[in-house]
Amino acid sequence: MSKSIIRLSKSCIGNDEKRAVQRVLEREFLGMGEEVQQFEKNLQAYLGRPTVCVVNGTAAIQLALQAIGVGMGDEVLVQSLTYVATFQAIKATGATPIACDIDPSTLTIDCHDAERRINENTKAIIPVHYAGGVGDLEKIYSLAKKHKLRVVEDAAHAFASRYKSKLIGGFGDIACFSFDGIKNITSGEGGCVASGDPTVIDKCKDSRLLGVIRDSDKRFAGSRSWEFDVTSQGWRYHMSNIMAAIGIEQLKKVDILAKRRQRLARTYCSQFSNVKGLEVLDLDYNEVVPHIFPIMLSTPVLRNEVRDACIDADIEVGIHYKPNHELSYFQTNNNLILRNTDLISGRLLTLPLHPDLSTADVIQISKLVKNILN
Ligand SMILES: *Cc1c(COP(=O)(O)O)cnc(C)c1O
Repeated sequence: MSKSIIRLSKSCIGNDEKRAVQRVLEREFLGMGEEVQQFEKNLQAYLGRPTVCVVNGTAAIQLALQAIGVGMGDEVLVQSLTYVATFQAIKATGATPIACDIDPSTLTIDCHDAERRINENTKAIIPVHYAGGVGDLEKIYSLAKKHKLRVVEDAAHAFASRYKSKLIGGFGDIACFSFDGIKNITSGEGGCVASGDPTVIDKCKDSRLLGVIRDSDKRFAGSRSWEFDVTSQGWRYHMSNIMAAIGIEQLKKVDILAKRRQRLARTYCSQFSNVKGLEVLDLDYNEVVPHIFPIMLSTPVLRNEVRDACIDADIEVGIHYKPNHELSYFQTNNNLILRNTDLISGRLLTLPLHPDLSTADVIQISKLVKNILN
């Protein structure tokens, strides 16, 4: 048998998920119904706040922004170092994403830099919980309060992560999660909006179903609205029963999945302690559930060397992310430089991390990386 590739990330699916999907298929009600309602209830019980399940995390961010009135002419602060999904979700509302710099120690938004970019059009700030860590979230909320901004947390990396012992999504303004195939829990594709603001929840419930007012309740009861009104822009962004069936099973084992990620990240950290030319994020893995494991090399040349050596050894690696301010579509007249983003992004490399990875795999990967540095 040929040596298999160590994957960067993957879905970790057991028999429970397979049986749950089979049950939905056999009942022949694949759209949004019972399972979606149940998944929302279970998420609410877990997070302690109402949730609205949608087709993916990008849609969750777009609908959350629209629910707080963000649209044409508005500006939204967001770190440049994020998945293009965050930027496109802002653009989809008609608003302009304003690329902000990052704090080099956490790779989350730099509040000082963000504050410099605030003007009368600024409506919201999106902190991205990079790798599952949230940086100084309290500082972000006080900045938002000072300037009367709404906060939409891009918590796509941070399902099950905690901040000062509190679950992300269980406090604050609005949190958006992704359940795509490789996130901390998955529903195949999928995502949700969590908020303590009933207006946000109600608006998202309607906007995910083409704006048809109170259609969610009807669908959960297994029927549809034939006589209805639409009063705002909506999208076809609801979650299906097939997806929710997977999500329900994944949520049941979130603690096991989270602990495996935390254990593997701690192993990487101990392997890389005191290694010259390489830094890891200083995160508390009792609180943070890591979605990815990025390392920072001392130079872009070294990063590329490590990347190539990993690929040669059949170890998949990633780059999280190419900064969005470098992408043609997101160029703005905003001429303030992004110093840390520019200094750091070319030196980042993401090593494999997923619940099916073994400690031995992590040690093997770490040894290979260290060999190149020596
Ligand atoms: C995955 C992800 C999203 C979007 O979620 P999808 O479910 O893939 O649409 C948004 N932001 C970040 C940082 C992500 O990693």
